[in-house]
Amino acid sequence: MSEVLVLVDHVAGAVRKPTLELLALAKRLGEPAAVFIGSAEHAGEATAKLAAYGAEKIYVVDDAEIRGFLVVPKVEALQQIAAQANPAAILLVSSAEGKEIAARLAIRLESGLITDAVDIAKDGTTTQSVFAGSYTVAAKVTRGIPIITVKPNSATPVETAGAGTVEQFAVTISDAAKTAQIVAAQPRQATGRPELTEAAIVVSGGRGTGGDFAPIEALADALGAAVGASRAAVDSGWMPHSYQVGQTGKVVSPQLYVANGISGAIQHRAGMQTSKTIVAVNKDEEAPIFELVDFGVVGDLHTVLPAATEQINQRKG
Ligand code: FAD
Repeated sequence: MSEVLVLVDHVAGAVRKPTLELLALAKRLGEPAAVFIGSAEHAGEATAKLAAYGAEKIYVVDDAEIRGFLVVPKVEALQQIAAQANPAAILLVSSAEGKEIAARLAIRLESGLITDAVDIAKDGTTTQSVFAGSYTVAAKVTRGIPIITVKPNSATPVETAGAGTVEQFAVTISDAAKTAQIVAAQPRQATGRPELTEAAIVVSGGRGTGGDFAPIEALADALGAAVGASRAAVDSGWMPHSYQVGQTGKVVSPQLYVANGISGAIQHRAGMQTSKTIVAVNKDEEAPIFELVDFGVVGDLHTVLPAATEQINQRKG
């Protein structure tokens, strides 16, 4: 069976959940083979996790020589591993970096590229949700090694032991790949909540909050969710722009999306309508958001949310 390469997205060896989702998808197409690019001291933690989630093989590329350089060294590393492994496909997370690496790699390998897939079938056919979610497209790469970027939350990670055979892979990185280097990086102050685009649950607030996001945040924390917002809410300065969900904000596809005091404008829907389950709380029963919900509550969010939060916390306790 051919290998399916999965580029590992990690922070200092801590493998992020979307990579585990990719391993589950890779198993459908062939033998999952992870590509870890990072420092040798972090490789042990990562390889254990990757093997536990089905990686049969793990290529470890020590990044001592290339740390901090922008994406091109990673492209060259993947290109060299692909030349050796001749994989059935290469999967990456649909992040800004993942898509940039994928695009550059596709040119070098003269391969077809599909971005923002939300599913991959056994035969390599991908599903994409396009034009603000109004069309579902099935597509397949017809040339070269299929390179596919997959949106977070598109698959469920499966804890299944793989052989996890580690191969230290020595890459030769060209000077041309080392032309731009990060000189300093400051992590954003942690909120303690999951990253918006990766969260399994997102609780969002809109103009209907009146600027009081406390009930939204309390419900999010009870559910272990990320907080999102409509553009009306961020334009009012109630939440940072990085929280905006929609056409001109982040596109999320969680298992559960809870929209509170959000009318459901088409531009907001574009960012959340592929969520698996949608719940809305709105005091106007005619609000367009109710057209796409699985469960709707007509009521004042300032009453409904604290009551729901209390119930959830009680049941957890
Ligand atoms: P409103 O439309 O004002 O809705 C507020 C809702 O809250 C109403 O339905 C009301 O019934 C309800 N409500 C009020 N009080 C309560 C209460 N106490 N309890 C419960 N419910 C209550 N918008 C985005 O969100 N994301 C985008 O990325 C985005 N991109 C855009 C791009 C373009 C080019 C354009 C033109 C617009 C874009 N918009 C975007 C804006 C979008 O058109 C809407 O204006 C916006 O989504 C409205 O936000 P809202 O639902 O919070 O506010």
